[in-house]
Amino acid sequence: MEKGSCKVTNKVKVSNLGYPRIGKNREWKKTLEAFWAGKINEEAFRTEMTGIQLQHLKTQQEAGIDLIPVNDFTFYDHVLDTAVMFGIVPPRYAYDGGDIGLDLYFAMARGNAEATACEMTKWFNTNYHYIVPEIGAQTPRLTENKPLAAYRFAKSQAGIEGKPVVLGLYTFLKLSKGFASADIAKIAARFLPVYVQLLQELKQEGVSWVQIDEPAIVTGINESELSLLNSIYTEIAESVPGLNIILQTYFEAAEPLEALFKLPVQGLGLDFVHDGGTNLASIERLGWPEDKWLGAGIIDGRNIWRSDLDAKLQLIEKLSVHVPLDRLILQPSCSLLHVPVTVQGEVKLKATVKAALAFADEKLRELGLLAAALEGTAEAAAALTASREALTAFRALPERGRKDVAEQVLGLADLPDQRSLPFAERLKVQQEKWQLPLLPTTTIGSFPQTVEVRQARLKWRKGVWNQERYDGFVREQIADAITFQEKLGLDVLVHGEFERTDMVEFFGEKLDGYLFTSNGWVQSYGSRCVKPPVIYADIAFIQPMTVKESVYAQSLTSLPVKGMLTGPVTILNWSFVRDDLSREAVANQIALALRHEVKALEDAGIEMIQVDEPAIREGLPLKAEDHEAYLNWAVKSFRIATNHVKATTQIHTHMCYSEFNDMIDSISAMDADVISIETSRSHGELIVSFEEQEYDKGIGLGVYDIHSPRVPAVEEMTANIDRALRVLDPEQFWINPDCGLKTRGWQETEDALRNMVKAAAIARENA
Ligand code: GLN
Ligand code: ZN
Repeated sequence: MEKGSCKVTNKVKVSNLGYPRIGKNREWKKTLEAFWAGKINEEAFRTEMTGIQLQHLKTQQEAGIDLIPVNDFTFYDHVLDTAVMFGIVPPRYAYDGGDIGLDLYFAMARGNAEATACEMTKWFNTNYHYIVPEIGAQTPRLTENKPLAAYRFAKSQAGIEGKPVVLGLYTFLKLSKGFASADIAKIAARFLPVYVQLLQELKQEGVSWVQIDEPAIVTGINESELSLLNSIYTEIAESVPGLNIILQTYFEAAEPLEALFKLPVQGLGLDFVHDGGTNLASIERLGWPEDKWLGAGIIDGRNIWRSDLDAKLQLIEKLSVHVPLDRLILQPSCSLLHVPVTVQGEVKLKATVKAALAFADEKLRELGLLAAALEGTAEAAAALTASREALTAFRALPERGRKDVAEQVLGLADLPDQRSLPFAERLKVQQEKWQLPLLPTTTIGSFPQTVEVRQARLKWRKGVWNQERYDGFVREQIADAITFQEKLGLDVLVHGEFERTDMVEFFGEKLDGYLFTSNGWVQSYGSRCVKPPVIYADIAFIQPMTVKESVYAQSLTSLPVKGMLTGPVTILNWSFVRDDLSREAVANQIALALRHEVKALEDAGIEMIQVDEPAIREGLPLKAEDHEAYLNWAVKSFRIATNHVKATTQIHTHMCYSEFNDMIDSISAMDADVISIETSRSHGELIVSFEEQEYDKGIGLGVYDIHSPRVPAVEEMTANIDRALRVLDPEQFWINPDCGLKTRGWQETEDALRNMVKAAAIARENA
């Protein structure tokens, strides 16, 4: 190591924006769930949580992070924390205005016997979900200063001079509901004094840097939004002089940068990974203001790959032309909340692949290494070489550069991208072939994944059951499901998806190009974590993935059984994706593999095939100007997967719950013969948008909500059907629940579907 004095003066500062909450072995999740289940009391819960929080601080301290975030830790969600901190409790909860205890906090997150939970929605373009604050007549006040408590905790317990992370007022309000968007400035004025109080208390405590997160800026700001930002930050600067604020953006370019330069803050945090190169280009054009620090987000906080550190050093060099090194802070592109904790536990992966991974802890080490490399230490040089070698070896893996896959992708240009007949003509031959009744009834694919089904899969995975035994079990389940559906009188059946845990993992395991981590968990919402499969190499079809189960199911009945696949865009969006190819290129590889599967199903006599795309909407870029390009390639990949079937083969797709108003053209361009959408929770709105935009293909707008165990009455469903038939042609309408039934029990499924079939019969009579 270099001499201490030299190190202190020259070293570029390294910062983190947020550390994963879930713990190395998901201790956080387990603690929460134990508390909810009443297995531990509040005291034990708090002790456990404090221990986890401290562990995270120490890990970052040991990694040499100069600016360690505090208040990024939460018991559920940081947006909920912010609402609670300002006393924003919706009136449906019994709340007298005193302290907000854990009961109320978790009731807002999860609902309780008296009141439903607050709405939950996606955090920008990530798979993290936050709790939507409901701002009404409440008078904002500071119920507690959580960032201050977190700062004190880090200082007293670990001697850390923490950097409190606070959700910016602008973004907080943008993410809230309960007021007209035109009133945002008025609402902001109500919150501002409390906000200022919070920051003043931090200042008085001796806090030097505060990170104020304003990611809403990157979705685009107009004149009035800019002036709102101006007034917020001017007020803060005037009321809390001497506090260093770094205004943090992420997930996209911050534009217009020249306007942000004028805000009276000491630092700006920018994302140089997910900005399409715009942030650097803006700095090269505008220069960098002398009075500001730059928080340079250079290590990808959204992906799991080791960085190309040489490229990162080049980026730093380009930045340093405009920003002096003593004003530069190296940091991840966003909070590390979106990546798993550490690669350490990945003992099952082959060495070359494991060495190419970097989760949160490894990313922090990369940042430290970059800072050391700028100092020019010998250790840094050696570590850089090692990193370079790891990456070179990974890049050279033959499965990442397959000629056959590359040729197929190149050949895409020559593939016909239309069905053989336009929809109107296909419809006629399909009606002829399928002879379905008016308003056909069907389901979305999965039937209850009971304990028995999950245990059988576990036994098979552990080798307790051999393949034959497991296949036999799945066949029994399928046979029962077919009988069940026939008895109920459904028109189009499904095999039930008993062989699948998860709609992406199932395909990942059967395609070339995927790997699976042992411990690569990330928080999705609350205590719920997901372990996305990893696309690390070229995706290719190996052999049929779903034909066996579909053919068996079809052999049991004379009614049509839909083949059931997950679409290319959903497979892409629910995976961690290699970062050396464009997402479009990877989607095309997946689409080509699925094209084989669709063909294999058709060849095996399965001529009604559903290709689910619930995740199309969530892949939509944050900036409106990028939507079209994304939708174009997303739609195209769906078509590559499906458009080569015979005219009589009926392609279905299911798109789950989304806002579709601005996407109906794209949905139509997918050219599926039938789509189903999860709409029972916002039935009216969606129907109106389909009416306005004249959608002419088959459509099933879910007639009941499968997210609740409640069995809806026949009348409720008839009302939904009638509503839809006021704007949609009965020839066009399908009757189905709004999503798959895997989370439900058999009895409630039976009762609900029986009512649905009755409702369909009534609707047919009236039609
Ligand atoms: N076919 C899937 C199922 O029924 C669809 C799931 C989804 O929309 N997320 O479970
Ligand atoms: Zn769904």
